[in-house]
Amino acid sequence: MRKFICPVCGCRTLQSRGENDICQVCYWQDDGEYDESFPNDCNYGVTIKQARANFLKYGAYDKQFRKSTRKPDRYEITDIYMKLIDNGGI
Ligand SMILES: [Zn+2]
Repeated sequence: MRKFICPVCGCRTLQSRGENDICQVCYWQDDGEYDESFPNDCNYGVTIKQARANFLKYGAYDKQFRKSTRKPDRYEITDIYMKLIDNGGI
């Protein structure tokens, strides 16, 4: 089954949208939020915007999860992810 794109790292890692799936690449818990500047309760009050900056810096949406994430598989990589990485320079 084709997976859904994580709103933070842009990888195709989510089984569903809005059902609290955890992205294995950035560890974001997806409650279906799209608003990039909304403090996200199930992600320790981090916004999608902050989460992206943290992902580029630490490899996880929050520093505390940096050891719980993994690199994306080739089939999970999207243009959104590539653009993010290019702009962020990791
Ligand atoms: Zn992600």
